[in-house]
Amino acid sequence: MSPSKTLYEGKAKKILKGPSKNTLIQVFKDDATAYNKKKHKIFSGKGILNNLISEHIMEHLMSKGIETHFKKRLNKREQLIKKCEIIPIEFVVRNIVAGSIAKKLGLKEGTKLKKPLLEYYYKEDSLDDPMISRDHVEAFGWATKSELKKIDKISTKINKILSSLFIKKKIVLVDFKIEFGRLTSNPKKIVLADEISPDSCRLWDKKSKKKLDKDVFRRNLGSLIKAYEEVASRLGIVQ
Ligand code: UDP
Repeated sequence: MSPSKTLYEGKAKKILKGPSKNTLIQVFKDDATAYNKKKHKIFSGKGILNNLISEHIMEHLMSKGIETHFKKRLNKREQLIKKCEIIPIEFVVRNIVAGSIAKKLGLKEGTKLKKPLLEYYYKEDSLDDPMISRDHVEAFGWATKSELKKIDKISTKINKILSSLFIKKKIVLVDFKIEFGRLTSNPKKIVLADEISPDSCRLWDKKSKKKLDKDVFRRNLGSLIKAYEEVASRLGIVQ
C-alpha cells in the first residue's frame, strides 16, 4: 500500500494525496456499512473486487464517451483519479422498484417503472442523506441549472449503457447511485466520480432474481463476497 497521506476517509473508501497536481489516489476498503453505519462489517477482499469492477465499468463508460475521474488502476486496492470538487448530491437512477422507494411509497419490490426515475439525495450522513428536489439543488447552490441538465443527461446515458452491459451478462440493473464532480483542473467540466460497484448498484440475476449486490449484506442473504465474485466473473474480470 502506498505511504501517501490520507486526505479523507469514508465508509468504504479512502482518498490519498496523488503523485501530481490535480490527481488523487482512491483506495477501496473492505468495510461494508448499511442503514447509515448502523450496520457495519468487514468482508475480506471486497475492496479488491470493487476496485476491479469499478475500473471495468468506468473504462466501459469511457469507451462510450462518458467522461469520468478515472485515470488508471494502480494496484489491488488503489486507483489514480483526477481531482474533483464533488457535488454533494447522490444521484440515484431507478429502473425497477426496490429499497427505499419501495418502503417510502409502499410499492412492491420488483415492479418495473414506466420510465427510468432520477432522484437526488443531499449527501449528509448526520441527516441520513435526505431526498431533495431539483429545485433544492439549484436554490441551495449545490449545482447550477445547466450543470443539473448535463448531469441528468449523462445519468440517463449511463443507465442505458450499463443496463445493456449487464443484461448481456444475464444481470438486471435495478438501480444505482452515482456522484459527479467538477475537475479542479477545469471546474467547468463535470465528470462522473466515485465508484460504480455492487456497493452502489442493485444487480439481480435475470432469471432467479437472486441479489448480487450489497443487499446481500443489508438483508443477511448469504455470502457478499460470493455475490460480488459472481458479478466480476460474469463481467469477465475474474475467473
Ligand atoms: N445507494 C448508495 N449509497 C447510498 C444510498 C444508496 O450507493 O448512500 C445506492 C443503493 O445501493 C441502491 C441505490 O443507491 O443501488 C438506491 O438506494 P435506495 O434509495 O433504495 O436506498 P437503500 O435502501 O439502498 O439505502
